[in-house]
Amino acid sequence: GSTIGILGGGQLGRMLAIAAARLGFRVHVFEPSASPPAGDVAADVTCAAYDDTAALRQFASGCDVVTCEFENVPAKAAETLALSTVMRPSPGALEIAQDRVTEKRFLHNLGVATAPWAEVDSKADLLGALGRTGAPAILKTRRLGYDGKGQARVSGPADVDAAWHRIGGQPAIMEGFVPFTAELSVIAARGVSGEVVCFDPGSNVHRDGILHQTTVPSGLPKGALQDAVLVAGRILNALDYVGVMGVEMFYLAGKPVIVNEIAPRVHNSGHWTIEACVVDQFEQHIRAVAGWPLGDGQRHSDAVMTNLIGDEIDDWPRLAAEGGGLHIYGKAETRPGRKMGHVTRIGPRR
Ligand code: ATP
Ligand code: MG
Ligand code: MG
Repeated sequence: GSTIGILGGGQLGRMLAIAAARLGFRVHVFEPSASPPAGDVAADVTCAAYDDTAALRQFASGCDVVTCEFENVPAKAAETLALSTVMRPSPGALEIAQDRVTEKRFLHNLGVATAPWAEVDSKADLLGALGRTGAPAILKTRRLGYDGKGQARVSGPADVDAAWHRIGGQPAIMEGFVPFTAELSVIAARGVSGEVVCFDPGSNVHRDGILHQTTVPSGLPKGALQDAVLVAGRILNALDYVGVMGVEMFYLAGKPVIVNEIAPRVHNSGHWTIEACVVDQFEQHIRAVAGWPLGDGQRHSDAVMTNLIGDEIDDWPRLAAEGGGLHIYGKAETRPGRKMGHVTRIGPRR
């Protein structure tokens, strides 16, 4: 049988490993930290740092294809791997999504709408950047932000110094605040042959910068959903992308959708597909990176997925009794703000 390598051993890696195992693949996980959630499922785990070239080479030599569960694989590590195995998605796609400025430039060149933005290399750029985006705005680190970390709100010029300090004085991007009606995301897959399959866009509610709930159907106008899916398809095609990608968007009534960010991997807002689709996002990703034909992304049920953050996971016995699909990630430690599990409730498709 073939071996699929997964970079990253968090909950996304764990759910990818489950899907891969179900399709008959052997899974080898590469993860710098000890006892990762995916380690319970994978046949093999390499615990090494991304600058450990020897470990990367050995990992690659044992894998027929290597994919990732997160976008921040260092470019050098991805290039090392690409020398001796197939990387899907490609290192180039990861590189674009790793940096919010590169990502925004890429979207701009594609003609995809984004929030107004300006690059901030140093403190001296802050006021000029705010002048370009207008207030209110959000200052975000260019790299390594997730779950709203590395972001600071800016209501006006008086806030910029405090915001710069809050994000640790790093290269950043100033983004105009989008007064969205709703947030939605498209979970899209592209196969080796270039076929694209999208799941039904879900509407997302965030709390404190962290995804709280995804609802499908989203209740947004049909035209907006078609627009969203077409935009996602253009993004995947432009990157010659292979695998599943999460495209996060803002919807403003009566306007074309605005892309917030792209995640070159399976996505938290696609977890509902496990219960509500015959082929879920994890299986779809494994199919794509293995060079298989993509599955049918049709949804047979309506779904609401709710994240269990921090000690919300302690409520699992009640949730288990209530019905719905319960997922517990098996993390060694519960911490505030940490994604510990999720629950998906489904109902007949309306
Ligand atoms: P993720 O965990 O999805 O990777 P992240 O840390 O990369 O999150 P963003 O997606 O950029 O952060 O922002 C988190 C949330 O903050 C968004 O989903 C949205 O609710 C809000 N937000 C971010 N940027 C903007 C903006 N320009 N205008 C309005 N709201 C925004
Ligand atoms: Mg992000
Ligand atoms: Mg986001």
